[in-house]
Amino acid sequence: MKRNLERLANQKFDVLVVGGGIHGAITAWDAALRGLSVALIERGDFGSGTSQNSLKIIHGGLRYLQDGNLSRIRMMVRERTTWMKIAPHLIHPLPCLMPTTQKISGSRLALSVALKANDILSFDRNRLDDPQKDLPDGMIVSQQELSRILPNYDVWNSTGAAVWYDAQIYNSERLLLEFILSAVDAGAEVANYVEAIGFLQRDSRISGVRAKDAQTGQIFDIQSKLVINCAGAWMDCLLEKAALRSEYAVSIAMNVMVSQVWSEVAVGLTSQPVNGKRPQVIFIVPWRNQSMIGTCHIPWQDGPHTFMLNQVTVQEFLDQINSAHPPLKLSLKDVRHVTWGFLPVHRSDANNPHVKLTRDGVVIDHQKRDGISGLISVLGVKYTTARVVAEQAMDLAVNQLGMKTRKCQTHLTPVRGGKIEDFRAFLRKAIRKVPRVISERSTEHLVYTYGSEYQKLVESALRQPDLARRIDPPLPVTVAEVEHAIHHEMALTLADVIRRRTEVGSTGLPSMPTLQKCASLIGPQFQWNSDHQQQEINRVIQGYPFQQTETRAANL
Ligand SMILES: Cc1cc2nc3c(=O)[nH]c(=O)nc-3n(C[C@H](O)[C@H](O)[C@H](O)COP(=O)(O)OP(=O)(O)OC[C@H]3O[C@@H](n4cnc5c(N)ncnc54)[C@H](O)[C@@H]3O)c2cc1C
Repeated sequence: MKRNLERLANQKFDVLVVGGGIHGAITAWDAALRGLSVALIERGDFGSGTSQNSLKIIHGGLRYLQDGNLSRIRMMVRERTTWMKIAPHLIHPLPCLMPTTQKISGSRLALSVALKANDILSFDRNRLDDPQKDLPDGMIVSQQELSRILPNYDVWNSTGAAVWYDAQIYNSERLLLEFILSAVDAGAEVANYVEAIGFLQRDSRISGVRAKDAQTGQIFDIQSKLVINCAGAWMDCLLEKAALRSEYAVSIAMNVMVSQVWSEVAVGLTSQPVNGKRPQVIFIVPWRNQSMIGTCHIPWQDGPHTFMLNQVTVQEFLDQINSAHPPLKLSLKDVRHVTWGFLPVHRSDANNPHVKLTRDGVVIDHQKRDGISGLISVLGVKYTTARVVAEQAMDLAVNQLGMKTRKCQTHLTPVRGGKIEDFRAFLRKAIRKVPRVISERSTEHLVYTYGSEYQKLVESALRQPDLARRIDPPLPVTVAEVEHAIHHEMALTLADVIRRRTEVGSTGLPSMPTLQKCASLIGPQFQWNSDHQQQEINRVIQGYPFQQTETRAANL
């Protein structure tokens, strides 16, 4: 995948996608698979907006039983199955648990009814050929079993627990990148660090954007029959350039990462009312050897540019978490990483002190709504539903273009790396086959990360054994991945490599020697001098506002 701004400037595209978050990435892939000529620009790095901050759960919609919205649940169940089918290396079953209580709404009876309903509504969830993706029926377990699964949990307030299965994204940044790479495989032209700064507009017709290359400051035009605004929380900032405004505002959502609380099962616990916040279900999710805890919702009355995360806000969330499970006693020094981003709320709910999230993704037809042709906007609410929202946007796009194209293929087509029929068998074979110059742990990591493409990295490591070395043991990440990111995945900065191509920085700020090692590997490829390398390191550090550089915790 090569960045080529000349081609962006010189070709007229059917579709131009603005924004390389999960919605933009899948929209571009969908357009390319339908046979349209498509370009995508992202003003930062791919996935560097809200998408890199998700809790990595692909929801089957159990929580929406409360709303009684059965069609939404069915859609989420179908999407969960689709994700496991098209990206089998990156989406895996996740057992989830919630203690039952004496209260009627949280009782064993109420939750066993909910689990039964969930099983019925997801009756077709296991119609996949890969046995590793099977999601067993939900069940209620005893108080004794609960104390075995959750050591240190005070089981005396509970009467047992409800257990069900959802899915987890092994690495959401890589998943997003696989969609970008797949779009490129299907013919899309993509570039990161290119911002849409205005529209090419004559009267009520939009025919592309004016763009700015953040690397050089160069300004150029990209012509396109249709622009799809996938700018996420910045959707309205882009619409302003055409004097338009949507009905949506933003709220803030945040997760924290701490040392592992419980392994293997995601646990939903209800917080107490603290700091003026209502009780809410907080999920403690195992990820690598850490726990991600989320999600904290914060109302916000202003635009996305002005929010600054501060220690008070993080501490308030830790208070909420501690109220749900007091033995945790979490304080700021326990936080390894904070990830936060934006979620949409309806403008009329923006002043509500308790965030009322928009439940469903929206595709805005500006021709119909505002009389402006050549522009569609996409408002996404969940990673889980991004594929289906992208499909809706492209159905509308094809209709407006009046072109004859193939139907949507994204629910049927494996993403780059996704050509695996039986994940466990594939992994076993890889571990047997790969020479032990690459450790078993690194081989496993390569298969989970690159799927059916892992051999490319193995081959380059075998050609050049230096590449088989681990960057930061015991992390399994190899030098080959850093090289691959720069040469084949359009990584342009140290942060791109550390946060969104490899896992070097995914469980917290890497140690200074690791940052320096990565910078010195990348630097010569981009002719960075030592000052530039230091600036790149400083930028990475800024992305972890609550952590000092330190040697990695021994439990990694
Ligand atoms: C804390 C948190 C936890 C979450 N957990 C989950 C979860 O577990 N499961 C789930 O399903 N969902 C979850 N979500 C929701 C999910 O992450 C989001 O719905 C999704 O990532 C939004 O994707 P997007 O593409 O719409 O936006 P973004 O990822 O923000 O992408 C928009 C992109 O557009 C770019 N852009 C903006 N303006 C321009 C411009 N003018 N030119 C070029 N590019 C531009 C931005 O830089 C950005 O990268 C969570 C969200 C948060 C914040």
